[in-house]
Amino acid sequence: MGSISPLPLAAQERALSDRVIPPSRQGKVDSSKADTPNGGRPEIHTVEDMAQSALYTAPGAKAYAALAAQASNGMWPVTLAYRCKYPRGGTSIKAPVPQPMEVFDGVYSIGDDANNIWAIDTDEGIILLDALTNEEDARNIIVRHMEQVGLDPRRIRIIIVSHNHLDHFGGAPYLKSISGARIGASTADWDGDSIYGRMPPRGEGDFDISDGEQITLGGRTVTAYLTPGHTAGTLSFVFPVSDKGTPHVAALFGGQGKPRKMEDYVQFLEGLQHFSEETDRMQADVILSNHTVGDDGLTRIAQLAERKAGEPNPYVVGREGVIRYDALFRACLSADIDQMVWDQTHPAPAK
Ligand SMILES: [Zn+2]
Repeated sequence: MGSISPLPLAAQERALSDRVIPPSRQGKVDSSKADTPNGGRPEIHTVEDMAQSALYTAPGAKAYAALAAQASNGMWPVTLAYRCKYPRGGTSIKAPVPQPMEVFDGVYSIGDDANNIWAIDTDEGIILLDALTNEEDARNIIVRHMEQVGLDPRRIRIIIVSHNHLDHFGGAPYLKSISGARIGASTADWDGDSIYGRMPPRGEGDFDISDGEQITLGGRTVTAYLTPGHTAGTLSFVFPVSDKGTPHVAALFGGQGKPRKMEDYVQFLEGLQHFSEETDRMQADVILSNHTVGDDGLTRIAQLAERKAGEPNPYVVGREGVIRYDALFRACLSADIDQMVWDQTHPAPAK
């Protein structure tokens, strides 16, 4: 394949911001809850909530959605609404930007209300997971948040891009320019187009990440896995963390949103299967996300801000939680697949 020069980032960014986000994508905001950390974003807590709010019509899809709600068991009400709502939507919100915070020892949440960015501090510099949409976001959110928690942005050494959507890679060139960091992404996402942008060409030191690759800096290691479906080369991650000295293992699935085509759904499920085998093998007991809808991040950050000595870290969900999260995720994808199949054989009655 010949090289196609990507749209300049500024033009990609305009394209992204010009996209009109329909209310369905925003999710119905409950104004009585607008001052909660989620800004009134919809939540599904129970099987009954699911039956009322998800718009699935296929019997199989409804059954899968109910299973997802059972699996979630109230642990991810925002994630459940986002993943298992039919039609799709709900990532886009205007909640207050969460305060940057050290969530685990040397692991910081420094993103905005929609996209979370994780910074892993090491003796030899900082690993960043994702980079927001553009230079402005990188400056105003990432750099400012890093400074607020005492991290020097010039110490960023590695920026790992989970997938080639602009809201994950657009800020990377700016951050590289101030730090000399190397940018890593999967080969498929370096080289391919996506519906939300195309990565700039690899620069000096930038690198390709393959399945199972360990990225190590200053004694900390992030293991990356190829989990395509959201994009052709979406990466997901497992890495050890510690909470005030107590060791845990974090799992971060790197592509949140539902795809559109059946074959992508099937690939997505295969990616989840691959990732769950690895999170089992590595005994993950923490769920993180690069979107706040992916780990109920706005709620958990707010809880963490109020955490008192001896109280649990809200991101530590235990082995049971990781297994429940995986079951939730799969059941929601299966609900969508079932609904797609149903729609093909049961066209909606004409009005
Ligand atoms: Zn994406």
